[in-house]
Amino acid sequence: MLCEARDAALISCKDRYGRPLRTVLCRGCGLAWSDPLPAPDALAAYYREHYRWEYQGTHRPRRVHIYRNGRNALERFRQLRRWLAPQAYVLDVGSGGGELLYLFVRQGCRATGVEPHPGYAEFAIREYGLDVRIGSVEQIELEAASFDLIALYHVLEHTACPAVVLARLRRWLKPTGVLAIEVPNLEATCQAPNHRFHRAHLFHFNRATLTALGRREGFLAEHAELSPDGGNLFVVFRPAEPAPVDRAALRENSERVRRRLEQHTWLRHYTSPLPYLRAVRRLMRAVNEHRAVRGRCRGRDILEACFATLPAA
Ligand SMILES: [Zn+2]
Repeated sequence: MLCEARDAALISCKDRYGRPLRTVLCRGCGLAWSDPLPAPDALAAYYREHYRWEYQGTHRPRRVHIYRNGRNALERFRQLRRWLAPQAYVLDVGSGGGELLYLFVRQGCRATGVEPHPGYAEFAIREYGLDVRIGSVEQIELEAASFDLIALYHVLEHTACPAVVLARLRRWLKPTGVLAIEVPNLEATCQAPNHRFHRAHLFHFNRATLTALGRREGFLAEHAELSPDGGNLFVVFRPAEPAPVDRAALRENSERVRRRLEQHTWLRHYTSPLPYLRAVRRLMRAVNEHRAVRGRCRGRDILEACFATLPAA
């Protein structure tokens, strides 16, 4: 996909729930993916019909999910703010229940969302009056060179061909615009070793493979950071001339990834304080979420409670 090497090593046979899932690591570049990859049509049907039900147990966002996504949206908005000009036109790919889109509009931007799940997309349209296109990046059509900022939070790893997605986004982005992408970090050690792979995540990136793929598809990374726990990788790209990948650097990257994954053992994980702190944080989060949504029925009221600290534009 990235380097065209035909040599990949099997690094996992199971997903995080213990179900069979083969994941391979390319020896040429360090990109990892599910093997075999699902057919694009089957994947589109899965996101349209099954994904939300499988992972959230619902066909429209529940109140606690709205609250959780609202809190995430606030963090994401703060992360993106330095690249947002006043009245920017923003595209949120994988806009879900519309929480981040709602915040963009609340803060004076023009915003469009793309969401493959009809229930979530229609909820965002109906509940908040947002502009959401139902479908995937591969299916929908948007005007060329129209967006100042395109955001993809935890979307690229779900797509059948990330290169195709990036090429389409490149067309929709203004020459002066930015593309912001967050994906799980393949090298993360904040989760247990057997929790790394997820059936819905088809590709696994680290900083080197994500920036190299962007470069090949006509984007130059101008900023990259990891979340405090190292679990997520966030990269901001600007449109640039496409450039071939640096094969020598990527071969070294593959070695680096292989070493990192090998070093992240069960023993090391469970003798560190990380998993216990994480469990406590999750429990506290669930308690806070239930407390926060009590007495609030409308999505808008829940989101306004999340965004109370941010003055509206
Ligand atoms: Zn490769």
